[in-house]
Amino acid sequence: MDIKAQLSMILNLDKCIGCHTCTVTCKNMWTNRKGAEYMWWNNVETKPGTGFPKKWEDQDKYKGGWDVTSDGLRLRLGGKFGMLAKIFYNPDQPKMENYYEPWTYEYEHLIDAAESKTQPTARAISQVTGKHMEIKSGPNWDDDLGGSDKYASADPNLSEEEQRLMMEFESVFMFHLPRLCNHCSNPACVASCPSGAIYKREDDGVVLIDQEKCKSWRYCVSACPYKKVYYNWNTSKSEKCIFCYPRIENGQPTICSQSCAGKIRSIGVLLVDMDRFAEVMTVADADLMEAYESCILDPNDKDVIRQAKKAGINDEWLKAASKSPAYAYIKELGLALPLHPEYRTFPSVFYVPPLSPVTAGAEAHAGLPDSDMMKIPLTLLAKLFSAGNTEPVREIQNKLTDVRKYMREKRFGGDGAEKVLKDSAFSEEQIEKAYHLITQASLNERMVIPLSSHAESKDPYKRQGEVGFGVRGKKSWRQ
Ligand code: SF4
Ligand code: SF4
Repeated sequence: MDIKAQLSMILNLDKCIGCHTCTVTCKNMWTNRKGAEYMWWNNVETKPGTGFPKKWEDQDKYKGGWDVTSDGLRLRLGGKFGMLAKIFYNPDQPKMENYYEPWTYEYEHLIDAAESKTQPTARAISQVTGKHMEIKSGPNWDDDLGGSDKYASADPNLSEEEQRLMMEFESVFMFHLPRLCNHCSNPACVASCPSGAIYKREDDGVVLIDQEKCKSWRYCVSACPYKKVYYNWNTSKSEKCIFCYPRIENGQPTICSQSCAGKIRSIGVLLVDMDRFAEVMTVADADLMEAYESCILDPNDKDVIRQAKKAGINDEWLKAASKSPAYAYIKELGLALPLHPEYRTFPSVFYVPPLSPVTAGAEAHAGLPDSDMMKIPLTLLAKLFSAGNTEPVREIQNKLTDVRKYMREKRFGGDGAEKVLKDSAFSEEQIEKAYHLITQASLNERMVIPLSSHAESKDPYKRQGEVGFGVRGKKSWRQ
């Protein structure tokens, strides 16, 4: 067993209200500067839809993630020679039109416009050309027409038949999908970097880019299947979500989690067996979820604790792991799945898939239908969260429905609680735990973050360059 501690985030999609508070706080804190205008380290997408950059899930176009070959895993981007051939021109890179042309508004005009019969306006100004522009696209352009055929028809996860079905008026649906770097355990970005500039921290698994070492090759932008590495045209370096390391190291949640209006996010420690990851990397898609979860170890198991101590994981981290909401969601309750596990980067960010409005045919079931009678097709959720296998999603939806049915019976004095328990995959204790975690858990229960050994370390300005954004003495992040 080669045990590593990994910080993990859980997002409960049933609770996301699409307010974008997370996105805006992240932008204000980390990417509100020159060269980073178009970057959204955290963004919230509307599904079905094309996402940001547009159609990022289309790996035939972008060639992100890993392919299974007879020799094991290989970057889709190509081998050493394939990558070398793309050194000066890489057709797999997203272009500006795949993101959007960033803009600001002519705010001064609201104050200094000459007297006129009409109200002054603040027209959009391109942050690329500095000229007036017409806005044609933005980071969540799908939102305004969420669920409409215009964007659903471009979602790479929906088959033609599914698109046709969801366009029937009573079947239209949408939900929100917040996204950030997954701080993967098998990160394609790290593997693709010829300069060794991207690294995964040993003690907490956070993936960072050393700005001093980055040589602007941008292979990481292509290799990341989630398109969560961005190129800063001002510093000529790649950048990505740094999991708010200055906050995390001091035991505080990431800013997206702290500010989340829907309280959908939890952060905790996972103990993962890296040896096991190496074994399960190439299993068939249908078995991927079970194999993946088998790499996450029980933090209360005596043998695991002994081996973890041997691997240098200290008591504070082990204590945090034993109270980890991430472990509770993923393993104890089996309620959370990673986004697109078939990319085989083994993400550390997990999602509780959404329940959804019920179809008209479900009325006979007193408003609490089976997963097959909900509007969001299981096949779509399975494509997003379990490599196309509908069973893990079905199980989760049934468990979530059982929690609601059980609590309703209990609260309103019905006599059906026993029956719910009898038919459920959950025990009474699990139902109570899931109910508490989803609806009542305090900030301290949702964010169990141990202090880091980095917290009191060296010159913060030098660190800033080594761990993620801006280069000391050159074009700094404030310029
Ligand atoms: S999601 Fe993050 S860690 Fe994973 S491949 Fe992309 S940039 Fe790297
Ligand atoms: S702040 Fe929370 S609820 Fe609002 S969009 Fe972000 S993840 Fe969703």
